[in-house]
Amino acid sequence: MNELAQNIVDTLFEILPNQTSFPLHEPFFNGNEKEYLMECINSRFVSSVGKYVDKFEKMLAEYTGAKHAIAVVNGTAALHIALKLADISSEDEVLVPSLTFVGTANAIAYCGATPHFIDSNINTLCLDVEKLDNYLEKITRVANNTCINKLTNKKIKAIIPVHIFGHPADMEPLMDLCDKYHLKVVEDAAESIGSYYKGRHTGNFGIASAISFNGNKTITTGGGGAVLCNNLALAEKARHISTTARSDKDWHPFHDQIGFNYRMPNINAALGCAQIEQLPDILKKKRLLAKKYNDKLNKIKGISFLWEPDHSQSNFWLNTLMLDKADPELLNQILKLTNKNGILTRPVWTPLHKLPMYRHSPAMDLSSVEKLENRIINIPSSKNLGDENRGYQV
Ligand SMILES: *Cc1c(COP(=O)(O)O)cnc(C)c1O
Repeated sequence: MNELAQNIVDTLFEILPNQTSFPLHEPFFNGNEKEYLMECINSRFVSSVGKYVDKFEKMLAEYTGAKHAIAVVNGTAALHIALKLADISSEDEVLVPSLTFVGTANAIAYCGATPHFIDSNINTLCLDVEKLDNYLEKITRVANNTCINKLTNKKIKAIIPVHIFGHPADMEPLMDLCDKYHLKVVEDAAESIGSYYKGRHTGNFGIASAISFNGNKTITTGGGGAVLCNNLALAEKARHISTTARSDKDWHPFHDQIGFNYRMPNINAALGCAQIEQLPDILKKKRLLAKKYNDKLNKIKGISFLWEPDHSQSNFWLNTLMLDKADPELLNQILKLTNKNGILTRPVWTPLHKLPMYRHSPAMDLSSVEKLENRIINIPSSKNLGDENRGYQV
């Protein structure tokens, strides 16, 4: 029996309420979900036209401070559309962290473009701007406001910062770097609704961004996503190409380009409206849980709890425990013992540069990602675990 693993399990039981098992992230439907869904069914507007789609988009724009929100079928589709808004095509490379969900890189591949993998900051898990600057300095040349990869002769057109586990990436130095190298920014804000960088909601820094409302995210529409964008012409383009590029002529259905059938159905948006109403309460509870974890887990030698970065407010989507040192064996022992005790824990995604389809993609030195792979453990993060009236109080 590993002493550290046992210590972690004991401490988690002190923090967590009295339950027999603890999923990683459960959805809760404690608001108007049933009412709105019934309304949807009774109205028979269940597909991609209906008042809840419009309402959800308005609520999203208002909440995030984005001028425009376009609701789509999932976060990956939202990323695909956002990359289209950045004009990404088959001749381009797009910089993307190796440490992210596979959907981030897949959306690049859907555009026919090449994902170019970059390293992460060992402390924040988000991309390492300084290291990236040194790398781009070496391998690129800038001509006619374009960044060319000298090794492949391809254009590096854009970068996708990912707000990992809801913790905002360091956007200010990143935006400076993007000015220097003429890179467009498409944010993967799939995990970061309710997360702010210097008081500004994530997803508002680049050309466009993507949010996910999958069942395991902070709020859910069953499956769903949204494109955020602050430019009217681009928002109209996003709406158009995600609605099969339909532009009817008189009575005749007409499509002016190859579009996508990506619009969010009304029935999913109905769920979304009810969920976003509860977002402030969800965030409050998740923060309380994170505080409890932070207080207690940091007292254990050999591990630490990942707190939000400076100048940021995180939604604490998935809480994260970090081993002091990369240790695959210890990592497995902790995963095994916690899961055996009904505390669902999970290691981080396999870094994307190790997946068969991306093994030959261009990549910088990824030594931090290689270490992080054997240091990260996600721990239960559902909002009910942070209910004030249940057990331990901060
Ligand atoms: C969830 C997620 C996505 C994709 O969202 P889906 O709705 O599952 O398609 C993309 N990127 C990141 C980082 C995610 O966590």
